[in-house]
This record gives sequence, structure tokens and C-alpha cells, in this order.
Amino acid sequence: MNYQLELQRAAEAALPVLGTGRVADYIPALAEVDPASFGLALATVDGAVYGAGDWEQPFSVQSISKLFTLALALATGGESVWHRVGREPSGTPFNSLVQLESENGIPRNPFLNSGAIVVTDRLLTLTGDAGRTVRDFLRAESGNPLLDTDPAVAASEAAHGHRNAALAHFIASYGNLENPVEDVLSNYYAHCALTASCRDLALSGLFLARHGLLADGSRLLSRSDAKRINAVLLTCGTYDAAGEFAYRVGLPGKSGVGGGILTIVPGRGALCAWGPALDRAGNSVGAVAALDAFTTATGWSIF
Ligand code: GLU
Repeated sequence: MNYQLELQRAAEAALPVLGTGRVADYIPALAEVDPASFGLALATVDGAVYGAGDWEQPFSVQSISKLFTLALALATGGESVWHRVGREPSGTPFNSLVQLESENGIPRNPFLNSGAIVVTDRLLTLTGDAGRTVRDFLRAESGNPLLDTDPAVAASEAAHGHRNAALAHFIASYGNLENPVEDVLSNYYAHCALTASCRDLALSGLFLARHGLLADGSRLLSRSDAKRINAVLLTCGTYDAAGEFAYRVGLPGKSGVGGGILTIVPGRGALCAWGPALDRAGNSVGAVAALDAFTTATGWSIF
């Protein structure tokens, strides 16, 4: 297959929809991005990278970081995190509080804000610094030593983070946080506000395509845990539209309100698409269109 040509075609397929959707503005620092930006990168399991459009332009990774916090919490602390967070789709928006009360402070899945707050708490306990742990992992896997948290975005999230603070306090009231709420939230904002490009994220996601193996050949996760993370990504990784995403793209993936979507093609590679304008569920309109076109043309789907 001519990867470069297929990426180019997929990027062109996204062009007509790049003007639709809205850039996230509930975190004011995110609203400053050009909505017409678009990038697409493919990293193959042998470590080669291909790209189209703004594929090397850094953007705010936001909830894509939740994939890495989960992988690192499982790799460092084993399965115990699953006593504190579930693995079911929620059917509610990513920042919703409603299920937490009836479900005793146990978030439905690790990719909701509530679930990611619990996983961040676990990673903070295990490592002493969850934000830095995720950053260092992305630096190592992408080979980009400049990859870092954008302090302005992290500060903007903290200043407007009333919902996340409410979620964290509510979870703490059920005894499901090990660390002070303020510490958990600052670590959560630090990894959400990481800035990385499609290239960086595609390379960083390859361990899931390699069934748990890192770029240097060492093992981060068992094959079984890699499969499990991919399964939860498929069912819960793209907000309350995971069914539609599976229908159109047919790959496990994680989206973020910065407009990125990182998808895994097990055994083959990782694809990251980015376009800041979002649909009503919070997924990038351009990224979904490009991934849809790519998997349709190449047959690269898990189905
Ligand atoms: N940092 C964002 C928040 O907490 C992440 C949201 C997202 O990308 O889904 O609201």
C-alpha cells in the first residue's frame, strides 16, 4: 500500500467538512486555535511515520492523555484500578455528574472526566507525579524531547474547572480518591494540557498496535492488557458517540476536545487525525471524516 497517497486522499476527503463544527471554548485557551487546521499521521509498527497537512503542528491533546494515564496506571500498579472505575459506556456527556451518585462514586469508565480523575489519582500515588509521568512517556515514545504541558492551557482549565472540581470532590466524598483533590486536579490538568502533534501521538500510541511493546522492544503491558485497553477505547473512547465512531471508522480510538483523535490498528499501526472544530458529541468533524475515508479505502479496520 502507498501509505502517503492514502493519507493524502483521506486528508482531501476531510476538506469539505473542515468549516463545520465548533472549536471548544469552555476552556478559553483552546478557543484561540484556527478551526481550519487539519493534520493526519500514520505510524506503522516498524516505527515509520507518514503525514499529511498540519501533521507536525502541536495541539492540545486533552482527553487523548487519558489513554496514556490508564496504560501507565495498569503497567505500574496492576489491575487494582479496576476496583475503582468501571468499563461500561456511560450514555452521558464526558463531564457529567449524574451517574456518580447512584453508582457510589465509581465512574463508569476511565475515559470520562470522572474516571480519568480516579486513574490520575492512582497514577499520582504510584509515581508521585502523574502529569510528568505521562509527559515523559510521550517524549520517550515520540522521540520528541520538547513535548510539554502548555502552562497557559493548564491554568485556563484550572480557572474554569468547576465541573472537574465538583466531580473530584464528589468522588472523594465516597472515599474513592487517595490524594488531596487539589493535587489530583493539578495532575489531571497537567496531562490534559500536554501539547503534541499528530506525529507525536501516532508514535506514542504504537504500543497498543504492538500488543503492549514499546518502541525499544521492552514490554509495557501484557498482550491481554493491551487488548483490554483497545476494547475500552472502542466502546468508550469517543464520548457519547462511540457507536457512531465504530460504525464509521471501525477502530479503537480516543478523542479530545483539542480536536485530536488517536486510533489504533492492532498489529499494523496508529493513526492520529486533528481538526479543532468539534461535532455535538465533542469529536472532531474533520478527524472523523478523514479516518472514515482512510479505513474505508484501505480496509484497515478491526472488523
Ligand atoms: N481537560 C478537559 C476537561 O477536563 C478534557 C476534556 C476532553 O478532552 O474530553 O474538560
